[in-house]
Amino acid sequence: MKLESLHDLFVEELEDLYSAEKLIIKALPKMIEKTSAADLKGALTEHLEETKVQVERLDQIFDQLGGDEVDRKGRKCKGVEGIIKENKNFLSEDAEPEVLDAGIIAGAQKIEHYEIAAYGTVRTYATLLGHNDWTQILEVTLEEEKQADKKLTQLAERINVQARAA
Ligand code: FE
Ligand code: FE
Ligand code: ZN
Repeated sequence: MKLESLHDLFVEELEDLYSAEKLIIKALPKMIEKTSAADLKGALTEHLEETKVQVERLDQIFDQLGGDEVDRKGRKCKGVEGIIKENKNFLSEDAEPEVLDAGIIAGAQKIEHYEIAAYGTVRTYATLLGHNDWTQILEVTLEEEKQADKKLTQLAERINVQARAA
């Protein structure tokens, strides 16, 4: 599709995020399974549940945009797909539990940073397009991604030190 307007770009970026969230929902269970630290396991599990609701928020906007404009399966987020591939390779390495946990945090934060960048962008586009309702919806998800990232940084402060002692 030719991008004729910021609106078109907005839709394309939302489709990319939709694909990203779906890929994340598929990837997180394996990361959770491989995690040893209970609090890290808990944080990732909580974010998996949040992510399912984030998909519903995108669906809400897509429903308002209408069927002929949106193709929910029209895009694959190659960015997040690539990060997830890296994480998968990492998970298959032979690692001490604390080192594995530290690496899982590193991989999870790469995903969060991609999402923070992308949601920040579409949030701003929504505002420019005069859709404050969509701005608010996207802001909720953006805040969740930022909180997830912050939580991971907090956990890393202990887990990285444990990994150093492994
Ligand atoms: Fe997300
Ligand atoms: Fe993407
Ligand atoms: Zn996230």
